[in-house]
Amino acid sequence: MSTRSDIIIIGGGLAGLTAGLHLARQGFRVDLFEKHAYPHHKVCGEYISNEVRPYLESLGLPIEGLKPSTISNFLLTTASGHQLESSLPLGGFGLSRYRLDQALAELARTAGLQLHQESVTDIQFRRDQFHVSTQHEEEYESPLVIAAYGKRSGLDKQLLPSPWMAVKAHYQAHFPDDLIALNTFPGGYCGLSQVENKVVNACYLVKTQTFKPYRNPEEFQAAVLAKNPFLKSFFSRATPVFDKPMAISQVSFAAKPTVENHILRCGDTAGLIHPLCGNGMAMAIHSAKLAAEAITEYHQHKNRTQLEDQYTKAWREQFSLRLKAGRVVQQVLQQPGLSSLLLKIAPLIPGLIPKVIRQTHGPLIQPAYVTQYS
Ligand SMILES: Cc1cc2nc3c(=O)[nH]c(=O)nc-3n(C[C@H](O)[C@H](O)[C@H](O)COP(=O)(O)OP(=O)(O)OC[C@H]3O[C@@H](n4cnc5c(N)ncnc54)[C@H](O)[C@@H]3O)c2cc1C
Repeated sequence: MSTRSDIIIIGGGLAGLTAGLHLARQGFRVDLFEKHAYPHHKVCGEYISNEVRPYLESLGLPIEGLKPSTISNFLLTTASGHQLESSLPLGGFGLSRYRLDQALAELARTAGLQLHQESVTDIQFRRDQFHVSTQHEEEYESPLVIAAYGKRSGLDKQLLPSPWMAVKAHYQAHFPDDLIALNTFPGGYCGLSQVENKVVNACYLVKTQTFKPYRNPEEFQAAVLAKNPFLKSFFSRATPVFDKPMAISQVSFAAKPTVENHILRCGDTAGLIHPLCGNGMAMAIHSAKLAAEAITEYHQHKNRTQLEDQYTKAWREQFSLRLKAGRVVQQVLQQPGLSSLLLKIAPLIPGLIPKVIRQTHGPLIQPAYVTQYS
C-alpha cells in the first residue's frame, strides 16, 4: 500500500523546505524527503540577499532571532593586490546553513509538513500520478512532485562531468561584520563573510585541475590562495572551527530543464548561478515560491499543462537573465587582464559595481499571500 500525498518534495535544502513550508501553510498534505538528518553543514558562502527576507519572514521564519550578521558592503580583491570597495544595493545577511536549514525544517514540521529522513531512489509517472520509492522501500503516491535535490543527485541521470570543485570552512578571526569580500586567486575565487556568532565563512570555488597537484585544502591554501595578499593576511590570523574543511566536487553550472517528466524543478535542480554572485540561495527560495504559487492555482483548475507552462514562464522571467549575467561576471573575474581592467575603470564610473551586482540579483520579492486550501 502506498501513502497518498498532495505534493511530494525531494530534497530538504532551501528550495524544498521553503516550498514545503509555503504549501503546508496552505493546508496541503506535503511529504518531503531529505537524505541527511538536520542540522548539517553545507558547502556554501552563506551570504543571503535581502531580496527574500520579507518573504521568509511572512512564512514565519524569525530571521533576526537567528542572529545573522548584517552585510551591506562589498570588497573585491585580486592576486595582484588591487582592491575595490562598494556598497551592496540591497545588502543581505550572513547565516550558516547549519542554523538556517534547521530553523526552516522545524518551522515546516510545525506547519504540518511530513518530513522523512530518507533518500528517494526512484520516481515514476503513470496514469497522471507519481509513484515515488525510497531507500526504505516505501512507496508514496501524489499528483505532483517538486525536485529540489540540489546541484547533483543520482536522480539526475544525464548530468555531464563538471570541472569545478568547492571547499568551505568556518574560522574565528577578526573580520568586519558588515562586509562580504570576494577574492580572486589563480584558478578560482574565495568569499569571506561573517555568519552568526562572529564566525567567518571562507568558501572557495576552483577548477579541479588547479587543486589536483596539492594533497589537501591546507596545502592548497598555503600555495595558491595565499597568492592573494588579502587572503594570505586573513588565513595567517584565522583559527579553524572545523576539524577539516568540507569539499565537494562536480559543481555544475550546466543549463537544466525547469520541468521534466512533469516534475517541477526548484533551486539548484533547475540551475545554479555562479557562486560569486551570492544569489543562489535567494534564487532557490524564490523559485520555491513560484512553484508553491503555481501549485496553489493548479488546485483551482487541475490543468497540468497550465501548471507547467505557468511555472516555466515565471522561472524564465525571473532567472534567465541573472544566470547569463553571472556567467559574464565569472568570465571577467577569471581573466587576470580583464579583472585588472575592471578594477582600474570601476572607480572612474560611479555606481558601476552596484549596477553589475543588480544584474545578478532581483528586487525584493513579495511576502507570501497564504490562503487555507480545503
Ligand atoms: C562554493 C559555493 C558557494 C556558494 N555561496 C553562496 C552564497 O554565498 N550565497 C548564495 O545565495 N548562494 C551561494 N551558493 C549557492 C547555494 O548554495 C545554492 O544555490 C543553494 O544551496 C540551493 O539550495 P537548494 O535547496 O536548491 O539545494 P541544496 O541546499 O543543495 O539542497 C538539496 C538537498 O537535497 C537533498 N537530496 C539530494 N538528493 C536526494 C535524494 N535522492 N533524496 C532525498 N534528498 C536528497 C540533499 O541532501 C540536500 O539537502 C554557493 C554555492 C557554491 C557551490
